[in-house]
Amino acid sequence: MKYFSTRGGDEELSFEEVVLAGLAPDGGLYIPAEIPKLPENWENDWSKLSYQDLAVAILSLFISPSEISREEITQLVYSTYAYPQKFRDPLITPLVSLSEKLYILELFHGPTYAFKDLALQLVGNLFEFFLRRRNMRKAPRERAERLTVLGATSGDTGSAAIYGLRNKANISIFILFPRGRVSEIQEAQMTTVMDENVHNVRVAGTFDDCQDIVKTLFSDKEFNERHSLAAVNSINWARILVQIVYYFSAYFQLKNSLASTGTTINPDVQFVVPTGNFGDVLAGYYAKRMMLPMRKLGIATNANDILTRFWETGRYAKIDPSTGLGVKETLSPAMDITVSSNFERLLWYLAYQTSSPGDPTRRVTACKTVSRWMEAVKKEGQMVVPDEVLQAAREDFVAKKADDEQIANAIVKYYKGSPTYIPDPHTAVGLHVADSFARTENSVEPVVQVVLATAHPAKFSAAVNQALGTADGFDFDRDVLPDDFRDFLARERRVIDVDRPDAELLQITIEKVAQEKGY
Ligand SMILES: *Cc1c(COP(=O)(O)O)cnc(C)c1O
Repeated sequence: MKYFSTRGGDEELSFEEVVLAGLAPDGGLYIPAEIPKLPENWENDWSKLSYQDLAVAILSLFISPSEISREEITQLVYSTYAYPQKFRDPLITPLVSLSEKLYILELFHGPTYAFKDLALQLVGNLFEFFLRRRNMRKAPRERAERLTVLGATSGDTGSAAIYGLRNKANISIFILFPRGRVSEIQEAQMTTVMDENVHNVRVAGTFDDCQDIVKTLFSDKEFNERHSLAAVNSINWARILVQIVYYFSAYFQLKNSLASTGTTINPDVQFVVPTGNFGDVLAGYYAKRMMLPMRKLGIATNANDILTRFWETGRYAKIDPSTGLGVKETLSPAMDITVSSNFERLLWYLAYQTSSPGDPTRRVTACKTVSRWMEAVKKEGQMVVPDEVLQAAREDFVAKKADDEQIANAIVKYYKGSPTYIPDPHTAVGLHVADSFARTENSVEPVVQVVLATAHPAKFSAAVNQALGTADGFDFDRDVLPDDFRDFLARERRVIDVDRPDAELLQITIEKVAQEKGY
């Protein structure tokens, strides 16, 4: 399997190249040269596989054996999705039933209690694997290749990346975060990791300042090359790829649970996905294109609803015309975005589908269309797609949003439900939106909904307490807080403070650490 950029189309790269590069040099995102077909008997052959074996089967469809052998993929997968060493549930992503028609796919049983662990635990192991292989091929006295992972975070990504890369040979990681602007638990998760190769940098500035600094350092060619900078942000192809697995896992868990009640028909399922940068739901789209049976994918956004507005109008605009505002702070901060970075990948498929089948350079034509759209978003803050493209988008997705009040109401509703369930505010966006799809979109019965639970409620204690603080008998410490979190805030920490959001100052700070540690 080869990969190409959504803005290029000519050049093909290996899996290793696209994983290590992250973003393509032309600004595009890498996608596979084709969407692989499922083996003929997949539905029988895969139905009883463990999460790990299912992951091996799916990853093998996207990675050529000549690049990473099946045996090596198996090793990578088993050391990543290890129970109980890395994940706290033997099913890795267990499906929980709230009713006959509503299920929750819990994606938060990894080290940092958020779904990003599922991807970043594997990405860390992949980076280590590629480096080890490159270094083994070197002559005895040649200097070992190494990587410096650099990123900015407002919370979830940073902690999941740190837990994915801690203690990896020849890799160091620097995570910038804005002082006083990440939640207490998230800051504690990041700064209590004592591994030598982990460097937290607390910057007096905003998240955008941190992100700008990271961009500046990446674009400094000399600095970038000297430190072999690498990124692990949500556009990395490996992150999308491994997320495809849990859609299949959910399907089989559902099918097997229906079978145990004597139901032999296949599940008629709609996935509903709390969405920000479109990584999670895009993985669902790949599963759908691979022919995993499902209804239209449900996109659930918070008040930052650029995607919902797109599905309503065909206009992809950073500024919400009804409010004139860019990013809004909500109860679900991991979905507070102005543009949705992985959406470009879907745009490529839409451009391709709606281009002329007779065009001998159809792939490149689609890339040109995407480049034009993204250029307009960059220059004018928006773009509009032709009607046929919007229609194609509506073939595979529906989208709705939830505001803060609806998020809080959903937390209360499911807490008071039977069985009781306490969702985190991101999952609550999904639950609210699933409810409204069930009322309006799924007119043909029967349909089962699976809402993806993207974080554990303890990570967002303020929102959960705000919603449930006055509910009868609710006790956060007893009902929500995991044991691991209890002594978190008191643990030893290590962090580098930087007093100004200044790229040059950061460069000096990183140089100094690199020199001390001999990077
Ligand atoms: C990152 C994140 C999301 C959004 O996922 P995307 O792949 O960016 O759409 C939703 N919920 C939580 C808790 C997250 O950390």
